[in-house]
Amino acid sequence: MINNSVTPIGFTLDYKELQQFQDIFSNISRLFIFCMANDGYGINRVTEISGDPVESDRLLGLLSQEQISSAVLRVLGSSLEEQVIEDTEYSNIKISTIGVKISGKPAFCWFLCGVLDGDDGENAVKNFHTTTTETDFINAVDLLRKASNRMYGSLYDDVLNKSSKASDYTDEEVDSKETIKRYRLMNSIVQLLDSGEKFDNIASKVMSETAEYLGISHAYLLKMVTRDMLEVVVEYYREGTFSLDKEFEEIPLDTLHYFGDRPTIISYKTQIDPISRHWMDAMDIKGLVAIPILQNQVPVMYAFFADISEEKKWDIEDTKLLADVIRVLQSIFTRRIQRNSIASSYKSLEAVLDNVGSAIYVRDTESGEILIANKICKSTFSREMQNGKLEELFENQARSSLATSYMEVEYAERRRWYDLNTTSIKWVDGRKVSLNSLFDITDKKMYQQKIEQQANNDFLTGLYNRMCCERDLTRYIDEAKTSGKKGAIIYLDLDDFKHINDGLGHQYGDVLLKAISNSLRRIEGIENTCYRMGGDEFVIIVPCDSYPKFEKIQEEIRIVFNKPWFLKGADYYCTSSIGIVTFPEDGDTVQDLIKKSDIAMYQAKKSGKNKVSVYTKEADAESTKRLDMEKSMRYATAEGYSEFEVYYQPIVDVRKPGSPCVGAEALLRWNSADLGFVSPGEFIPLAEYLGLINPIGNHVLEQACLALKHWNESGHPYYKVNVNLSVVQLLQNDIAETIAEIIERTGINPRNLTLEVTESLAINDMIRMKRILDSIKKLGVKIALDDFGTGYSSLNHIREIPIDVIKVDQTFVKNLERDEYAQAFISMIGELAEALNVKICVEGIETLEQYKVLEEMNIHMIQGYYFGRPMRRQDFEEKFI
Ligand code: C2E
Ligand code: CA
Ligand code: CA
Repeated sequence: MINNSVTPIGFTLDYKELQQFQDIFSNISRLFIFCMANDGYGINRVTEISGDPVESDRLLGLLSQEQISSAVLRVLGSSLEEQVIEDTEYSNIKISTIGVKISGKPAFCWFLCGVLDGDDGENAVKNFHTTTTETDFINAVDLLRKASNRMYGSLYDDVLNKSSKASDYTDEEVDSKETIKRYRLMNSIVQLLDSGEKFDNIASKVMSETAEYLGISHAYLLKMVTRDMLEVVVEYYREGTFSLDKEFEEIPLDTLHYFGDRPTIISYKTQIDPISRHWMDAMDIKGLVAIPILQNQVPVMYAFFADISEEKKWDIEDTKLLADVIRVLQSIFTRRIQRNSIASSYKSLEAVLDNVGSAIYVRDTESGEILIANKICKSTFSREMQNGKLEELFENQARSSLATSYMEVEYAERRRWYDLNTTSIKWVDGRKVSLNSLFDITDKKMYQQKIEQQANNDFLTGLYNRMCCERDLTRYIDEAKTSGKKGAIIYLDLDDFKHINDGLGHQYGDVLLKAISNSLRRIEGIENTCYRMGGDEFVIIVPCDSYPKFEKIQEEIRIVFNKPWFLKGADYYCTSSIGIVTFPEDGDTVQDLIKKSDIAMYQAKKSGKNKVSVYTKEADAESTKRLDMEKSMRYATAEGYSEFEVYYQPIVDVRKPGSPCVGAEALLRWNSADLGFVSPGEFIPLAEYLGLINPIGNHVLEQACLALKHWNESGHPYYKVNVNLSVVQLLQNDIAETIAEIIERTGINPRNLTLEVTESLAINDMIRMKRILDSIKKLGVKIALDDFGTGYSSLNHIREIPIDVIKVDQTFVKNLERDEYAQAFISMIGELAEALNVKICVEGIETLEQYKVLEEMNIHMIQGYYFGRPMRRQDFEEKFI
């Protein structure tokens, strides 16, 4: 390697010195460095790479030669770039080149390479010991650039001094003296780039230094005020010459082609238009250079250089220099404009922000730094800003995938509420920030809470109401879902509350509701989760935290309803039907869960009240299609049963000649205003399901008794009436009393009343059934076992329950003439009935043939279309009374 080399401007570069400097710098900066220069044979490495030898070798093997060459050429090949910093294909290797210019011409360059630590990424090189950080790398590069400039700056001074002392310097040396002077001019102008001084002052310096350097008489910086008016920003005129200030006031801008958007040079000899020449003559200048300074590609200023001497010739070097100078000025100007406009927009922005009613802040989402905070924010949240708590307090609550989110947030510690609006945006410098505004809505919230409290509480019982239930439940469901725990809903409906209300009066009904509410909310675990949904319906939420005590809670509820309530001087029992669902397994929406718990509750009602029923899917499927009917039926029941009418179907005695009518079965008809005629096969089960069969059944019984009373008193003292009794009715604790009350009220002879019960249901709980039927029988009424032969026929049971009549189901009559089995069955029942002292009634006789077959058998009564369809009471009485 050659040790010394002559630079293009004639200095001798001491490679040894460079190497020493480079080694030390490399050692301190932990960078790998070498030096490249044109050594006479092209651009080559002129120093050995500094840094750990093994790692240096490894590094040189890793780096792409093309990348190195291009980075080197960028600083050595042109005078534009001084410094290049680039990433490499390895995520943790950065390279940089620094061009060192002598007399404005690139002389040599440093090549630096740094391995950044802390990067274990896929594209990172591993196991380097000589590492640095990105900041250190950049700082080192900057330092090296400055240091080199200093070093070579003083070198030129030496050369310059030497040159000026020497009287007999060569042409080359004259040239280089010029170059150095120009370099210094440029250098001093470039240094103004980062100066904090006012633009006018900077411009003034630039213009005068340039004019002095070029030895010209005038230099002006002119600002375009309007499209035809220039204003002098900077003025320079050489001592002994004159100001042109006044001249610019009346300059015919649009006709002077040198105030266009390209630089113009006019020397004394240039051929130009008469107006321009005239104007120059008027100013007494002989040549000029006008260079526009652009903002957004539009000239906003002109640098105007002129000379009064005819000798001044504007050579290429001069104009190049002027162009360079103006370029620097242009960039200072552009920077200023940017800085000013940003600064002034910040100012006005801050003023605006300070005057809005919300606290506003902008936070760097990565570093957490608060970039802007308005007055209100600073005064309200100074502590939180200092602790870096704002994000945690507010923004985190608004976490959402959306760029903008808007929500109410609570600052619990301060008991304040805010409307928070959070937006993710890119800040002016490109970093990601969140823009947040917080508007204090505490007052509004307080007021709202007060209203809500009023709206949430049930006026009568003090329990929370339905609205509140739905809101709380939403929260409890969420809680269960996120925690993976379980909760439950208890839907509680008082049994026969209406009786108490009707019997004792509303004020006592209210007393009972209050008493029950108080007892419920005393149960541990549900103190704050009892809701009155309306009427006599309650919902109790068992939150996840209380769920482990669920059994105990249920037991406590049972106890509440097991004891009597003291009302109007006496003890009253009030049972409840309870439906239970658990969440989230049975559902995860409020509506769904409440509906399902309601369904379960009706299931409990259906199976005889005073029951607890847990929600099942089967019950649900049934329920949906019946919702309409339910609504209509509730309506019909509440509206005094006017849509219901009791029909009567004659029952004849086959044993007597001519088979005379001996009574009738009361069959209910429903002609709904909404649904039209609904068959009993459909609506009776629903009425049972809804528990409405109780009032409806009572209504039928009463109507039938009234009719019976009339018949018995109208010459048919032995006519009987059969009334169907649903098992739901039968399971009412007070069924015997209810019947007794109706018998008494209507004044009938109980022996003429037959109550029909179905076999299948009777079998469920034989002991209980027997007890109930016994108590009914004590009233003197008769019991018929309906639909015999269907369901779980078991002849044995007939013996156990006190039955007076067996009603053989109509299915046996269908093909009676031909069906030998049916004949044998009915005949056998007949025999059996005889033995048990029970009467037999066969239903569904439609034809004479069927009638004939039965006539032969041991049958007492027959019923069917053959004798008469179910008909209105009026029709029945016309025919049979
Ligand atoms: P059920 O107790 O077995 O009533 C006899 C049913 O057979 C009646 O049907 C009646 O119209 C029908 N029927 C009578 N003779 C004939 C015949 O010759 N041929 C045919 N095909 N059918 C005949 P309906 O009125 O539709 O009642 C159906 C069921 O609804 C009743 O069956 C009963 O279980 C129930 N139901 C009707 N009214 C009441 C009531 O007031 N309370 C209760 N709990 N259930 C009732
Ligand atoms: Ca019947
Ligand atoms: Ca029947």
